[in-house]
Amino acid sequence: MIHSPNLPLRCWAEIDLGALERNLRRIRASLPAHIRYVAVVKADAYGHGLHQVAARLMHAGADLFAVATMAEAAALRELGPGWPILLLSPLVPAEDELIPRYDVAVTVSSGEEVERFRRVATAAGQPVRVHLKIDTGMGRVGVWHEHASALFAGIRETPELQLEGIYTHYSSSDEDDAFTRTQRDRFRHALASIPDLDTKNLLIHADNSAGLETIERAGPFNAVRVGLLQFGVLPRRDSLLADVEPDPVFSFHTRVGLVKQLPAGTGISYAQTHRLTRDSTVAILTAGYGDGIPRELSNVGEVLISGQRCPILGRVTMDQTIVDVTDLSTPSPGDEVVLIGRQKDAEIDVTEFSTWAKTISWETLCSVTKRVPRIYRTALGI
Ligand SMILES: *Cc1c(COP(=O)(O)O)cnc(C)c1O
Repeated sequence: MIHSPNLPLRCWAEIDLGALERNLRRIRASLPAHIRYVAVVKADAYGHGLHQVAARLMHAGADLFAVATMAEAAALRELGPGWPILLLSPLVPAEDELIPRYDVAVTVSSGEEVERFRRVATAAGQPVRVHLKIDTGMGRVGVWHEHASALFAGIRETPELQLEGIYTHYSSSDEDDAFTRTQRDRFRHALASIPDLDTKNLLIHADNSAGLETIERAGPFNAVRVGLLQFGVLPRRDSLLADVEPDPVFSFHTRVGLVKQLPAGTGISYAQTHRLTRDSTVAILTAGYGDGIPRELSNVGEVLISGQRCPILGRVTMDQTIVDVTDLSTPSPGDEVVLIGRQKDAEIDVTEFSTWAKTISWETLCSVTKRVPRIYRTALGI
């Protein structure tokens, strides 16, 4: 990270760890008590910072962490031994030998992986913990649901592997409840096709943040995998999750670097895609796409200055963004600008920002670049 903690802030993210902890507690409180909480902290905890987020989630009561890569598992292990970690993505074979070193449970989707992990366990002289993943319609990781019982039998015949869980992933839980029901049914049928399956001693998990909308309180499910929602962002607009009401964890800030007057008719920024229709006051902000303001926000997005919305003029550039402040009492260099978050009575949330960027909240959060320091805060009143 090209940032010294002693330098003044010109573009930064604030991470409210108190809100993170409250969100986990609220999500847990909305679920039956026997449901385990798998905290998904891949991609540097959705850009919030893996170490800080994981430490707080441990304190708040996460049962298990899920990450995407061996490097993320290794970073998590730096916090200490013991806490269970599940790797969600397939490993590349060269990573197999690291399974015992970082003490991770891995995802199995194929007989070929069963054999690879068996060899790792034999070489290490200790079992490898696995979660069997079933593809119920996502078409990504997992064994196709009609072939699940055969792969299960292969794992059962391999004493070097210790089966810890079985799971699936929903492709459309944020928009298509009917397809999610289909996937749930396929998963249940796949479980039922396995003779003598003892689900009580396994983690059976399917639901991500959006899945919590329609989670079954009965049935075999005894864990959830939560990413986005714990960071205070709702996975869908028509959310039924009113009883959770998460608090925003992430906010994104920059400053005014320069203020100036420009005459009507001036073309603004690269390619002159905006032309001033009146004599204007513009502010040049000290952040651009090099910090994670998507270029899609050119001529579309807004920012908050003095609690008022100011439109972005012209193209977002790598290091600067130009906004119209003609209708404000003129700001000064150094004034704070909110890109995502609250300022006075105004708010731009991650969802609105993502709509301008023609993307999803998940991508917005992990697109804030490493030039941007994360400042950790802990609000009072948990
Ligand atoms: C990222 C991920 C999750 C978390 O999804 P959210 O929508 O952020 O809650 C759960 N399961 C798997 C397999 C994932 O890759």
